[in-house]
Amino acid sequence: MICSQNDIKFYKDFQLTNFNTLRIKSTAKYFYMPDNAGELISLIKKYKNCNPVILGNGSNILFSSSGIVAPVIYTGRIKSMSNSNLTIEADAGCKVQALSKYAYEKNLSGFEFLIGIPATLGGACYMNAGAHGQSISDNFISAKVYDIEQNKILTLKKEDMDFSYRHSILKEKPYVLLSAKFLLKRGIGEEIKSKMDENLIFRKTRQPNLSIPNAGSVFKNPENSELSAGALIDKCGLRGFRIGDAEVWENHCNFVVNKGNATSFDYTNVVFEMYSKVKEKFNIELRPEIIYIGKMTGDEQKNGKY
Ligand SMILES: Cc1cc2nc3c(=O)[nH]c(=O)nc-3n(C[C@H](O)[C@H](O)[C@H](O)COP(=O)(O)OP(=O)(O)OC[C@H]3O[C@@H](n4cnc5c(N)ncnc54)[C@H](O)[C@@H]3O)c2cc1C
Repeated sequence: MICSQNDIKFYKDFQLTNFNTLRIKSTAKYFYMPDNAGELISLIKKYKNCNPVILGNGSNILFSSSGIVAPVIYTGRIKSMSNSNLTIEADAGCKVQALSKYAYEKNLSGFEFLIGIPATLGGACYMNAGAHGQSISDNFISAKVYDIEQNKILTLKKEDMDFSYRHSILKEKPYVLLSAKFLLKRGIGEEIKSKMDENLIFRKTRQPNLSIPNAGSVFKNPENSELSAGALIDKCGLRGFRIGDAEVWENHCNFVVNKGNATSFDYTNVVFEMYSKVKEKFNIELRPEIIYIGKMTGDEQKNGKY
């Protein structure tokens, strides 16, 4: 149902299936789609005490199948981008694939690695998303963030962002990214394009595309192991392991795919099995990359630690 409040449209009991790449069926009690940063900030202010969910492209999250009571605020409509000389500035809701293409059109090199990542800029900065040996922090100059506690907009420089492997300050502080600025290098169109094509081909062989619903890597690669998370899980014999419709992907064991009607419960149980078997066999505690949103049932809550 579409409703309107201060001219900001919102939906009641909104189906989230198309707003998470795992295609988990879940419902948001209130779902907002602000058109600009001003609307985003006024919604966050209004719902400050309800812990609103800031949603990018939903490519790194697991929604609870029992629904989301907190207001969900989708940023995907806040998506302008601009370029001046070697810099690109973009809003939080820009898709990073669009940014990669935009940089290519401007003959700017440095965003080729973003081409296959199904993220918004806000989600990519939150996670410090990366691929092919590069990450969003590499070309980063600064970001505008809304500080929920202090109710003000801050400009953070790269050194303020506390970037490391799949980590940024956005995970630690009550900040919502509004926009970010990057410095790229002058490049040659054909070379940029061929690097982007190469990256897409590499991806096809190693990751499920979105026609097989998934949320990217389940676990971070452990720092104290020569083997990747996927290799460790594989060595535990879990390739193809399935509970309900959630299954360890047959081509790469650090992905759990939704074979049809997987619930968050199926998903967390598979993840728990992956975590437990690796701990038992290698004494390595894998750390999650995926973020759980909403109230999980008892077992899911327990499994959510992994
Ligand atoms: C097929 C596939 C391939 C993938 N490949 C890669 C890869 O190569 N490298 C990689 O690093 N990841 C990869 N991922 C994972 C995922 O795309 C990244 O983690 C991405 O950064 C998530 O962005 P998003 O916009 O989807 O964020 P969401 O999943 O919507 O949200 C993730 C987190 O970011 C927070 N967030 C979102 N926007 C903002 C904002 N504006 N301000 C503050 N917080 C915000 C959310 O609240 C949430 O906590 C892949 C996923 C899939 C499905």
